[in-house]
Amino acid sequence: MRLATFTHRDTTRLGLVDGDAVIDLAAAAPALPREMTAFLAAGADALAPAREALAAPGHRLALADVRLEAPIARPPKILAIGLNYADHIAESGQPRPELPMFFNKQSTCVVGPHADVHLPRVSPLLDYEGELGIVIGRRCRHVPAVEAAKVVAGFLVVDDVTVRDWQLRVPTWTLGKSFDTHGPMGPWLTTPDEVGDPHALELRTWVNGELRQHSSTRQLVFDCWDQIAHLSTAFTLEPGDVICTGTPGGVGGAMMPPRFLAAGDVVRVEIERLGAIENRVVPEPETTARW
Ligand code: ZN
Repeated sequence: MRLATFTHRDTTRLGLVDGDAVIDLAAAAPALPREMTAFLAAGADALAPAREALAAPGHRLALADVRLEAPIARPPKILAIGLNYADHIAESGQPRPELPMFFNKQSTCVVGPHADVHLPRVSPLLDYEGELGIVIGRRCRHVPAVEAAKVVAGFLVVDDVTVRDWQLRVPTWTLGKSFDTHGPMGPWLTTPDEVGDPHALELRTWVNGELRQHSSTRQLVFDCWDQIAHLSTAFTLEPGDVICTGTPGGVGGAMMPPRFLAAGDVVRVEIERLGAIENRVVPEPETTARW
């Protein structure tokens, strides 16, 4: 299934993408939660009625008539791993990490699959990182890698947008990875049965139609299951948590000379079987300042 969060006539709710249509779960299965984290936490009790809605006729809206939102509006946690593709490690000039190198993105950075991304007023060094995102489906801790697939609700496309100077000028990358609007994701959450092997997916990133990243999740240094095992050794993972699994080579900041994003640029990240997200860079609006 392809689980979406969408807005239609000023109401945001859950749906199932079916070809060019979205099935409105609020209408087709009114008892189900209307928010993704609660839906995922309900597990099989939510998935079974959703599958029935998918099989039944009716309650469909044209995908073109709705606005797709980030599948999870405010993930409880967003973890992301640095230096997890060999070619990206090489272009970064860093040694291959012996341990997964995780950092946080603050969940306030999440925006939808077609939302604008802000070029910060404090830095022009804006960069893209196309990535496979894992969405956790159940509370779990100390998950062995061989069991990790059981705790996954699905997968989605993420752009781990980064402000390079703010990322690298201090040892913890949190600030440079967490500017508002710097976590576009979607276009929907694809359940594992439709993805098959998550380590055999082609990933491509374009800027204004120019292919910048082209790799496969086969190239992950620490695979999805290793990442879940490592993270859950330290803390509980919860429904709706997102793990960004690292970016391949081809980021703008590593080019010679560097090619950072400018206002008006359009970044498209596409992953086989998961769809694409496409976000335009705009100058950070004056209206972001509030207190
Ligand atoms: Zn990244």
